Amino acid sequence: MTTVKEIVGAMKSPTEEDRAFVEKAYEYAKKAHEGHTRYSGEPYFIHPAATAKILAEFGMDAKTIAAGLLHDAIEDARATPEDVEREFGKEVLFLVEGVTKLGKHQYHGAERHAESLRRLLVASAADLRVLIVKLADRYHNMTTLEHVPEEKRKRIALETLEIYAPLADRLGFGVLKRELEDLSFPFIDPDAYHHVVEVRKLARRETEAGLAKVQKELQKELAKKGITDFRSDVRVKGLWSLHRKLARKNDDITKIHDIAALRIIVPTIDDCYTTLGIIHALWPPLPGEFTDYIATPKPNGYQSLHTTVITRDAGIVEIQVRTEEMHKNAQFGIASHMSYKQLGKEAPKSTFASLSFTWVRALMPSLLHFSRKQTAEAAEVSHQAEAPRWLSELADAHASIAGSKEFVDGLKEDFFSHRVFVFTPKGDVVDLPLGATPIDFAYAIHSGLGNHMNGAKVNGKLTTLDSELANGDVVEIMRRESAHPTAKWLDSAKTSLARRHIRLALGMTDPEASRRPRRRRMRPQKKKETGA
Ligand code: MN
Repeated sequence: MTTVKEIVGAMKSPTEEDRAFVEKAYEYAKKAHEGHTRYSGEPYFIHPAATAKILAEFGMDAKTIAAGLLHDAIEDARATPEDVEREFGKEVLFLVEGVTKLGKHQYHGAERHAESLRRLLVASAADLRVLIVKLADRYHNMTTLEHVPEEKRKRIALETLEIYAPLADRLGFGVLKRELEDLSFPFIDPDAYHHVVEVRKLARRETEAGLAKVQKELQKELAKKGITDFRSDVRVKGLWSLHRKLARKNDDITKIHDIAALRIIVPTIDDCYTTLGIIHALWPPLPGEFTDYIATPKPNGYQSLHTTVITRDAGIVEIQVRTEEMHKNAQFGIASHMSYKQLGKEAPKSTFASLSFTWVRALMPSLLHFSRKQTAEAAEVSHQAEAPRWLSELADAHASIAGSKEFVDGLKEDFFSHRVFVFTPKGDVVDLPLGATPIDFAYAIHSGLGNHMNGAKVNGKLTTLDSELANGDVVEIMRRESAHPTAKWLDSAKTSLARRHIRLALGMTDPEASRRPRRRRMRPQKKKETGA
């Protein structure tokens, strides 16, 4: 059992007050979970205590750590929201309730719902710390997944791999992304897992001695140029990441040069480029394998110089050069900006605004990707054929305005106010435009369901087919073979997908013709004439 001493010991320079706060939460949560056990038969409190220690190691503030200790206390144990608020304040209650809410969404592996669920998680985690507690919670649960009943394991592993690891990645949380992936992998595809473990072991054994020599040689040269204040280590590629790369390279291990990469951490950006020059003078770089992520960071903020060189001792080797600051960022991403010192009262407001901005910005590429994909698939669920307007507006705003507070607030509002996220009775998320009805929902699931819809229940209660759905609604569609769409449905359907199917079912041709006069006009007149 993780002791409170271990948790406090993992915190970065806590004050007396922080210490006392965490100790109090520890004792409180321990009592609340008394008598509860985990699947393994161990006391339940093992889990929140371990989650809290992970949060302390992430460098999180005392309130977030307390939230980690209390995150299951209201849902599973004896604590009430009133208790938690009285004992630990509004902020901790807010974090705990946020985590509890996130826990209600389950992913069942429907690929089209993965992005929706990721977005939903971000949307519901109004405070990023909620998401970080949830990630720490999931991380610890993954380390004990073998105790969970077998039929549940794969679903949890899949959810971790497809929802939580990408979220960690988007927050720039490199270590966590990798841990989550590699903990899920054996439950997803045990054979491939064992294969990759073997492949990696062999490759490392082959290069280990060589890499040590390369490291030494580089050390000597750097010292000659006056760079002595540096450290280097060998980064071994994650198993899932290696598995994916092997698949891309037709399982040809000789085409993968970064199973073990040499990592050099120097004090300044200048030193990075000097070091790069020294490396290239020592060993010829492989053409086309150099990437300057310092000048052009990855979308999640990752920075480093990556080069691949040909060495005599270790063959082809990838070398990564970065500063200490970049290293911290690459490991902890957004969490590294959220240490309690930066969240304290003395922190200027602008710091937090730009932080939230980084967070939203980190989500941009995937959002844009999502909208493109939607367009390609003829806007499966969205009611617009193009990328939704709010998305392109987001992109434009992103390009023109710096991270002002108003901008960030506006962005979040835009981001979440045009869509509604609802659930199937099994907990799958369906992402619909605002104002969508059970009819849109049914067609989003399957046209066969829509065409034979006989009624709908929202949150367990019978409802009319034209009632507007709200965020978080659980929607159940009743089906009867003899039921068919009526013309009235067209007025209640918000998505083009639903309308198209209804028109087809009603025997109407040229489905969206009358609905889209503007688009018609935009077509070149000539083409239309020749076509006719
Ligand atoms: Mn938990």
